[in-house]
Amino acid sequence: MVRVTTTDRRTALRATAGLLTAGAFTAGCATSGAVAHPAPTTHASGKPPAAGPRHFSGQPAQLTHGPRTHPRVALTFHGQGDPAIARALLTEAEKHGARVTVLAVGTWLDAHPDLARRILDGGHDLGNHTLHHLDINAMSEAEATQEITGCADRLRRLTGSIGTWFRPSRTARASPLVERLAHRAGYPHVLSYDVDSLDFTSPGAPAVARKVLGEVRNGSVVSLHFGYDDTVAALPAVLEELDRRGLAAVTTTELFS
Ligand SMILES: [Zn+2]
Repeated sequence: MVRVTTTDRRTALRATAGLLTAGAFTAGCATSGAVAHPAPTTHASGKPPAAGPRHFSGQPAQLTHGPRTHPRVALTFHGQGDPAIARALLTEAEKHGARVTVLAVGTWLDAHPDLARRILDGGHDLGNHTLHHLDINAMSEAEATQEITGCADRLRRLTGSIGTWFRPSRTARASPLVERLAHRAGYPHVLSYDVDSLDFTSPGAPAVARKVLGEVRNGSVVSLHFGYDDTVAALPAVLEELDRRGLAAVTTTELFS
């Protein structure tokens, strides 16, 4: 879904090396600096560990949509960017009785560790969207492994589980290698999508709503992003129309259950 320029790629490589303190990634990617933040060593006390990944038998390793037989859809969010936008989107979804799926970038969890609990306490799914949100399909096996396990480690520390899903970064589909590495890290399925909102291109809220509502149907997995004002402005109309059509917005786990 995201084309990376040579300059971006060089920037990404510097980020991997931990040399980048600030970088402006566009096209689906908010700022992704590899700034070191101390990670909490335990997950929230008094809370049971969050649910981990599940294997859904009969489903392929890479999931693009759920059953077309039930009027349910999954709204899935790239978890990065301004935490105020993330909170606004979660609150709006909950107001409509919707549950969503957040694929969190590891460095974003380092910067805003409280959001992991906020997402789970709202009844939403929380998953792994790599550590730095780089072009994971272009990485070596060792680098890609670090990107997957780096985010998984943060999720485990914050919630007691590696999260329910893994979604590859800067691509709609994982390469066979990345699919294998995700499986090895404990994720039986890679979560792709069949509806791309294109909200990260900032086309205006009406265009975001039109794109989603024009394509969504039973079983759809919709790709959306935290971090963009258009998404916040579009969500009420999307949720109202889903409701009108009798399409329930559920977690991805529920979509496949
Ligand atoms: Zn993403």
